[in-house]
Amino acid sequence: AAWITEFVTATEGGRPAPAVSGPHAERFGGQLVLVTGAGSGIGRATAFAFAEAGARVVAVDRDAQSAARTAELSRLVGAPEAWAETVDVSDEQAMEQLAAKVAAEYGVVDVLVNNAGIGLAGSFFDTTVEDWRKVLDVNLWGVIHGCRLFGKQMAERGQGGHIVNTASAAAYLPSKALPAYSTSKAAVLMLSECLRAELAGQGIGVSAICPGFVNTAITSTARFTGVDADEEKRRQKRSARLYGLRNYPPEKVAEAIVRAVVRNQAVVPVTAEARGGRLMSRFTPGA
Ligand code: NAD
Repeated sequence: AAWITEFVTATEGGRPAPAVSGPHAERFGGQLVLVTGAGSGIGRATAFAFAEAGARVVAVDRDAQSAARTAELSRLVGAPEAWAETVDVSDEQAMEQLAAKVAAEYGVVDVLVNNAGIGLAGSFFDTTVEDWRKVLDVNLWGVIHGCRLFGKQMAERGQGGHIVNTASAAAYLPSKALPAYSTSKAAVLMLSECLRAELAGQGIGVSAICPGFVNTAITSTARFTGVDADEEKRRQKRSARLYGLRNYPPEKVAEAIVRAVVRNQAVVPVTAEARGGRLMSRFTPGA
């Protein structure tokens, strides 16, 4: 929520945390929530939203400093406990070590948010094999590792849980400027739906979140290779208007993520209007 950002800015000096408040106050009391890519943008806002709702938070990022900061601020906004872990989600071994450490030291994760991702803009023929691998390694394999390792722990424990994967509106809006990124996100969307079917009988929900344009580092630092950046920006604006995608603050996406867990939603387009959702329904009959 917006107040969290204001609060965090105001508490740079370390004022005491306010009582937990908001629509899901205490809803996640005592639950363990792990967020990847928690050092910035949507991931950080999501860590705060769960912290506000009383959860214990594990903030995972490849950037140690920003993960530590998110953990520290999560405690300030209401998490009874919060820890930072520095891991590259595309590194299978590191993820295995993380899963083992979290289970041993903090417990089985109740809510997993596979959110870490990188942007990559460039036309199909200007995207190198190395770039394809990089974006698939983080955006797709990072999610696969998270689901395999933490999903297994949830299933073995037998007390349910929830997995949220951050896909994107790019998963279903084709763009000649984002072939690798969009492909990685389409794969995350399908992976989420398959896993949702697989885990439904065990009380474990799986949600795919599909934000439009969000004000974060990933969008402000986007680079374009092999496409006319101005033309691409105009095209994005046109499709944003067409599909009702508005520039969203990350806190709104975080709220949608918490709601997706509470309501056990399958696919969640996070756009200003419902048109994004109607468009989605062409692609995901089960949504
Ligand atoms: P961001 O760049 O602000 O945050 C991404 C975070 O992930 C950073 O802290 C970064 O250090 C971390 N990260 C990157 N690669 C990692 C790795 N290999 N291992 C661990 N951590 C890693 O961007 P954001 O907009 O908050 O993005 C979060 C997610 O939302 C991404 O999956 C992104 O694709 C998705 N998304 C963003 C938008 C948007 O418009 N911003 C729209 C749709 C989807």
